[in-house]
Amino acid sequence: MKRVVNFSAGPATLPLEVLQQVQAELLDWQGSGMSVMEMSHRGKEFMSIAAAAEADLREVAGIPANYKVLFLQGGATGQFSFIPMNLLRGKTGVDFVLTGDWGKKAAKEAARHATVNVAATSADAKFTQVPDRASWKLDPNAAYVHVTSNETIHGVEFAADPDTGAVPLVADMSSNILSRPFDVSKYGLIYAGAQKNIGPAGLTIVVVRDDLIGQAAPLTPGIFDYQQMADSESMLNTPPCFAWYVSGLVFKWIKANGGLAGVGERNAAKAKLLYDYIDSQDFYRNPVAKADRSRMNVPFTLANAELDAEFLKGAKAADLDGLKGHRSVGGMRASIYNAMPIEGVQQLVDYMKEFARTRA
Ligand code: PMP
Repeated sequence: MKRVVNFSAGPATLPLEVLQQVQAELLDWQGSGMSVMEMSHRGKEFMSIAAAAEADLREVAGIPANYKVLFLQGGATGQFSFIPMNLLRGKTGVDFVLTGDWGKKAAKEAARHATVNVAATSADAKFTQVPDRASWKLDPNAAYVHVTSNETIHGVEFAADPDTGAVPLVADMSSNILSRPFDVSKYGLIYAGAQKNIGPAGLTIVVVRDDLIGQAAPLTPGIFDYQQMADSESMLNTPPCFAWYVSGLVFKWIKANGGLAGVGERNAAKAKLLYDYIDSQDFYRNPVAKADRSRMNVPFTLANAELDAEFLKGAKAADLDGLKGHRSVGGMRASIYNAMPIEGVQQLVDYMKEFARTRA
């Protein structure tokens, strides 16, 4: 068996200890005589798995009691499509702060239901920064303000939880949820596909303040009505049981590894290692404003794009996988989520140094 160093943006690398536990319990989960994949979601075994995962997530992320935690399907795309139906609450406008393509996609979906006000955008800077907070033109009557806390493609991240005053803040945290401590009480709703920092694809986490739900638009399907999902403990229909179980193991892994403070310190050190190297020479380049650089996704270009294919081929030969940049921006991208050890980042830097030394 060989495990590569996996820099994929998602689905992404998972902690080895978690995969080993999944393997050990695969055929017979804790004496039940069956795999979690084969269990009824209504049975006491799966109910205990589900409840433990929620309790651990609440503990790890410090989620206050007046927030619902939902384990849903449909991906982040499903959520940004249904959030307007749930959160407009009779209002007609929503604010968006755009820092990349995912925010743009979310705004496009929201525009089916509401008037979208782009309160700020860094499109003119090719999404290489977060617009200065002082420049945001927020509408006090907006139903909510939507941000993408980490733009996975452009590698742009909000360094701190933004403040939007009385208007609820909605954040797509798909690619940086649980990557460092964050203040849930600053948000009205947080959503994230699991497949980057949490677990397998197929599960989507929603954390929502309870006073914001219960007023979904009449045509909202039941399984995407957050109130109905909260009332049924995310089991209005069959949930993504196996992904929920694996995610629960990841929450325990975070707890055992210093919680979000520990994870955040390690992620900061990993990102610093890579950015410091990129900034120390001129063969590789990252275009993002230093204060707004993502600690999770590090895009970079080579001085000569004709060397891209050779760079990727050599990386693959050195067991460094998933480095090709998103097709919309080209170049390279190293995704260094929670489960990526610093040794993996060091291996990448060593490879980059050697490649530059021989090709520059
Ligand atoms: N938002 C962000 C920030 C993402 O990175 C992604 C996936 N790369 C999505 C939304 C879409 O997620 P999904 O595929 O779960 O719909």
